[in-house]
Amino acid sequence: HLTLVDLLKRTAQRFPDRVAMEFLGRRTTYRQLWQEAGRLASALQGMGLQPGERVSVMLPNCPQFVVSFYGVLLAGGVVVNTSPLYTASELEHQLQDSGSQTLIILDTFYPRYAEIQGRVPVERVLVTGIQDALPFPKNVLYPLKARKEKTWVNVPLGGRVHSFARVVRAQSPEPKPATLSPDDLALLQYTGGTTGVPKGAMLTHRNLVANAEQARSWMTDLREGQEVTLAAIPFFHVYGMTVSMNLSVLTAATMVLVPNARDIKMVLGEIARTKATLFPGVPTLYNAINNHPDTPKYDLTSIRACISGSAPLLLETSRRFREITNGANLVEGYGLTETSPVTHVNPIFGEQQEGSIGLPLPGVDAIIADDEGNVVPVGEVGELWVSGPQVMSGYWQKPDETAKTVRDAFGKLWLLTGDMATVDERGYFRIVDRKKDLIIAGGHNIYPREVEEALMLHPAVLEAAAVGLPDPYRGETVHAVLALKPGESVTEAEIVAHCRKLLSAYKVPRSVEFRDELPKTAALKILRRQLAQEAREARS
Ligand code: ATP
Repeated sequence: HLTLVDLLKRTAQRFPDRVAMEFLGRRTTYRQLWQEAGRLASALQGMGLQPGERVSVMLPNCPQFVVSFYGVLLAGGVVVNTSPLYTASELEHQLQDSGSQTLIILDTFYPRYAEIQGRVPVERVLVTGIQDALPFPKNVLYPLKARKEKTWVNVPLGGRVHSFARVVRAQSPEPKPATLSPDDLALLQYTGGTTGVPKGAMLTHRNLVANAEQARSWMTDLREGQEVTLAAIPFFHVYGMTVSMNLSVLTAATMVLVPNARDIKMVLGEIARTKATLFPGVPTLYNAINNHPDTPKYDLTSIRACISGSAPLLLETSRRFREITNGANLVEGYGLTETSPVTHVNPIFGEQQEGSIGLPLPGVDAIIADDEGNVVPVGEVGELWVSGPQVMSGYWQKPDETAKTVRDAFGKLWLLTGDMATVDERGYFRIVDRKKDLIIAGGHNIYPREVEEALMLHPAVLEAAAVGLPDPYRGETVHAVLALKPGESVTEAEIVAHCRKLLSAYKVPRSVEFRDELPKTAALKILRRQLAQEAREARS
């Protein structure tokens, strides 16, 4: 029955001198983190922040993110995680939809806010720069002191625009304690946007604490106060927030902050330098490390355990990653924004089933249902429904969307995941694919994942996406989009011939497109739907 604020407070009391985060060499202890969060909370309260008010946070992984996240909660506010990749109009939509009156933003992202400032409800903006967190000499560390009217990258201060560093410095670390209950809303987490209009999943303190605790129970030998987490996947995405940030706070781990997960050299360098032990990630990240030319130069053997989520983990990816880390345990899990996010994981010390997302976490019920809501027999494909303490209460101000996604059945509330899955007689689940990504060609159902897995088995292929294109005779046909490994080349005919050996004829791509890189979300998920749209436009 704790709140997220209790988690940080407890760790700061028990491990005050333990390094909470390390960012490009600058270290912050848990005591300092607790105090900084307290100062920000005092500042927000002083500016008139009311309990339950939404605060949008648009920052990469950096110390200010963690301070902002816990500081807003400490002041009684609700965090709205905001992707730094948002365009001005996406930012406008989210600020309006969430009704955020406060925005905490990195100076380099500020111009996107400036474009839309007259059209959103924001009344206070706190601007910070990466420089504010760096170990520069004192007079340079807070350049805002010297250059009163502007931040480092020339954001004009004044009016409703404040310097984060200056505001936080001036405050007492003891805010007026907000009365928080575990059932209070802690976070609006907008769904990733690989499908349709973004919706804000409402996650409470109870949801988020439960998921951090469930994730801890997955790793029974997690050594409190001793682990070092390489935090490269973004905190503004629910997966990084829970598995890299909140789990670290719960277990007094040191977070090594990497602001850009696409910077593979920095990821490699930070793992080697800090001897990181835990490395939560996504398949595209492990795959990029496996194939990076500099990987052999770095010692990655300190890594003990990794959890991979957000997309299917291919056997080849985990096999190779285990090799280069000299046996790190890389297990696949599954979850979604609406469930804080983790619901399933392969048991780290139990039997891991390849190609499976593992077993439901403690406290989670999961079933496979047909469109009428009946449970299907073992082994048959249906939609995955989940229920548990980490499941959201609904979408922010979207009762119709909530009604489509949350259902009362068998005496409890279930979240309909939109993923097609199976379960075997031993309780291991497998994701077949997203319901909405199904390709129907000549009356056959084709799940793109199966085609993508076949494509990835070609030795020249680095990344693959399979999408459906409209076809006058067959309804749809399969189109493949590929990025190749560095220095490799292959023809369309060779790819098709390779697929013919592995797939029934109707699943074999009819066309193949090559790109240098596949487009991805900020959480490094391949944007299948964008690729489909672009391929359709190229055809017409
Ligand atoms: P949106 O929901 O808006 O389309 P998104 O896909 O980024 O965006 P998330 O909530 O971040 O939304 O992702 C959840 C989805 O990711 C799941 O519903 C599932 O389709 C997919 N997923 C997560 N883990 C796995 C996994 N291990 N294997 C296959 N798919 C996975």
